[in-house]
Amino acid sequence: MLDCLDFEKAPFGKGTLVRFRGLLIEHDLDRKLIERTIEMAEKDKGFGVRQLRAALDSSPLWGAGRVEDTYNLLGHALRKALGVIARRQGRGLAEVADEAGAGIVAASSLKAALDLDWDDPEERERALMKVLEVLETVEGWIAEVPQEGKDREVIRESLEAARQVEEQDVEIVAVGRARLRQGVAKDRRISIEDGEMRHGRKSKSQRVDGYKRHVLRDLDSRMVRAVGITAANMPEAEVTGDIVADLEEQKVKLIELNIDRAYLSSELVRERAEELAVYCKAWPVRNGGRYAKTAFSLDWDKQIIRCPQKVEIAFKVGGVVHFPEEKCQACQERERCTTSRRGRSISIHPDEKLLSELRERQQSAEGRGKLRERVGVEHSLSHIGRWQGRRARYVGKRKNLFDTRRCAVVHNLHVLQRMQDEEQEAA
Ligand code: SF4
Repeated sequence: MLDCLDFEKAPFGKGTLVRFRGLLIEHDLDRKLIERTIEMAEKDKGFGVRQLRAALDSSPLWGAGRVEDTYNLLGHALRKALGVIARRQGRGLAEVADEAGAGIVAASSLKAALDLDWDDPEERERALMKVLEVLETVEGWIAEVPQEGKDREVIRESLEAARQVEEQDVEIVAVGRARLRQGVAKDRRISIEDGEMRHGRKSKSQRVDGYKRHVLRDLDSRMVRAVGITAANMPEAEVTGDIVADLEEQKVKLIELNIDRAYLSSELVRERAEELAVYCKAWPVRNGGRYAKTAFSLDWDKQIIRCPQKVEIAFKVGGVVHFPEEKCQACQERERCTTSRRGRSISIHPDEKLLSELRERQQSAEGRGKLRERVGVEHSLSHIGRWQGRRARYVGKRKNLFDTRRCAVVHNLHVLQRMQDEEQEAA
């Protein structure tokens, strides 16, 4: 791209590219690059400013940082802080660690250096206390060492990371006794090098340590309009605020959105404009072989729900409706409706109207056809994944957003090329 592959002498140092990337991120120019490819499609291929039909989906992006258990996270954080001082003083890490009273930290794995019977809970507790003591000793020793500039920042961040790991994973059970907490702390830090990576799931069976990348594809032009990155433990719905902000820059109006159920709770869907039609496969409604919720009709104008035996009762969105006990007890369809002696009850979801619409839509061939359009965004995600890889190239959310945008630009250039090829074939 820079046309300097055959140069004998490098026209600039590697640091120039790193600074260039930093400036792109600082000024949000990576987003502008996506916009530029959209403008090219609008100018050359006639996709003008208009109403947008789009599909949104996500895939796992494994983080670049090493995921470690509590002992090794603590050891890694301390090794990093002492390593900065060792480099600055031109000494070996082992020598500096010994002087700081933290010899065990110099090994590549703190657990290996402790050399204990890890199956014995008492030994594990003792090891944990030892590591916490070392943390305190190192903090005290480092406070006396002169530090400046970037070094001071890295040391501070490393010690803060160690304390964060302690706070999330360790509980003090008595004076001089500590153990690892049961269960996983909410928003648990899993890596020292990348503090924004999290444990999460893409589905029940698919676990991910790192992030999720989100892609919004224009269903008509096939271009990717916006992308997003969220920590893997965040609900998919969290990304839509950023996606909407990117679309606002492009001055397009979203009139159709094709999503999977994970995005249903997003602000974009909950607070949607009237003209936005949402397409999504509805949750299956079952009731153990008895009348499901879909056998009951909802009159939205009168806010009334009607059962299969035409008994009507008022409902409130977000509430639970209880059909009158005496009516249900006397009902000839009772066996097919409920096992409760107090009568049938039904909960009305806060967005029940949308859920009913989704269920209704997928009954028609046209509605099912609309749902199938979502396949396109899966193709875009898979193309972007091919260029970006399964594992993140960078540390942190913002740089990985930059990288996802970079791959979205490559994707869009391929789409533009394909449009040109199709035009030539048709001519
Ligand atoms: S059991 Fe109650 S809710 Fe169910 S059909 Fe009969 S009257 Fe209606």
